[in-house]
Amino acid sequence: MTYDKENIFCQIINNKAPSERVFENENALVIKNINPRAPYHLLVLPKGEYESYTTFGTNATDREKLDLMEAINFVIKEYHLDDAGYRLVANTGYYGGQSVPHFHIHILGGEKLPTFGL
Ligand code: 5GP
Repeated sequence: MTYDKENIFCQIINNKAPSERVFENENALVIKNINPRAPYHLLVLPKGEYESYTTFGTNATDREKLDLMEAINFVIKEYHLDDAGYRLVANTGYYGGQSVPHFHIHILGGEKLPTFGL
């Protein structure tokens, strides 16, 4: 699958579309979800052109991976999510319900989240 440079997260990363940025480092960006499903609903994006966890995991450099983890850790600390817990989600592909074809991790917290019996 070729990366679609027109996707909204690519535009946000390149400052061609607006977003509420809460953190960034060299290789990762955190934005607030435009349609939050919990009191805290952040999206952690690598700045590189990866459409899924699979392509990121296979092709990203160690530095890019560490920067993504730093961004996740920032959110957990900034919003004190460790106190009561939180959820990380990476919807992937058609079956996974991914709607934006740029790899992203949802971080949800701030209330008791519904479970799917997992
Ligand atoms: P997915 O379904 O791909 O896992 O998640 C995509 C998420 O991106 C959705 O939760 C949706 O609300 C969010 N989203 C879609 N368009 C925008 C946008 O323009 N700005 C922001 N901040 N979030 C967006």
